[in-house]
Amino acid sequence: MAKRIRLDKSIVTENDRLAAVLAHRYDDAGILAVNLMSSPGSGKTTLLEETARALGGRFRMACIEGDLATDHDARRIERAGMPCQLINTGGGCHLNAGQVGQALDAYRLEDLDIVFIENVGNLVCPAAFDLGEHRRVVVSSTPEGDDKPAKYPVAFRLADCVVLNKIDLVGATDFSVEAFRRYLAGIKADLPVLELSCKTGEGLAGWFQWVTGARDALGRPARSGTRPGRAAPAKE
Ligand code: MG
Ligand code: ZN
Repeated sequence: MAKRIRLDKSIVTENDRLAAVLAHRYDDAGILAVNLMSSPGSGKTTLLEETARALGGRFRMACIEGDLATDHDARRIERAGMPCQLINTGGGCHLNAGQVGQALDAYRLEDLDIVFIENVGNLVCPAAFDLGEHRRVVVSSTPEGDDKPAKYPVAFRLADCVVLNKIDLVGATDFSVEAFRRYLAGIKADLPVLELSCKTGEGLAGWFQWVTGARDALGRPARSGTRPGRAAPAKE
């Protein structure tokens, strides 16, 4: 028994060590790192597509995409204008700091302002793996039900921001925004909740503002100009 506890601890300790290295890399380059987590189908990829289109003229952004098996999401994000490095986890249900470190090697970090990490769709173990990020975002969506925060409290407790997507579907489901917010308040008071719809565009401005604020909070202005950090676009 004692041996098993030690083993689990050593895995997390190794990840934490690598996460600390990542955090230094982000800070040395002056870039903001944002880790997005959610259940499958909440809309992380769509949110990143919208972000690429809306903020592409203001920030030099790149993405690290964690996916079980396909490159579908990575290609969508690249088509929207954000270079994307794919990590196929081969069934692995979360990203770890070692994987992200390797994927980051594809970029010259000094040429970027923001890196988004789209984690594997899963609200359980991604929360336990620090990727050295500055901000953690949990994306939830109304068809999933309003009790998601109560069911997955760890992910929400460790979040800096919650995006409530598919707000246009409230009314078509029995989702209660009030109940969702009440569950959240019981887990972490003062957690920003951004209600939006990637489909209709409602509320997206609040997300873009949140991203811009997080970038500005780093204290270094985003550098304008060309984007040499951009990877070759994905083939159709
Ligand atoms: Mg996705
Ligand atoms: Zn996992």
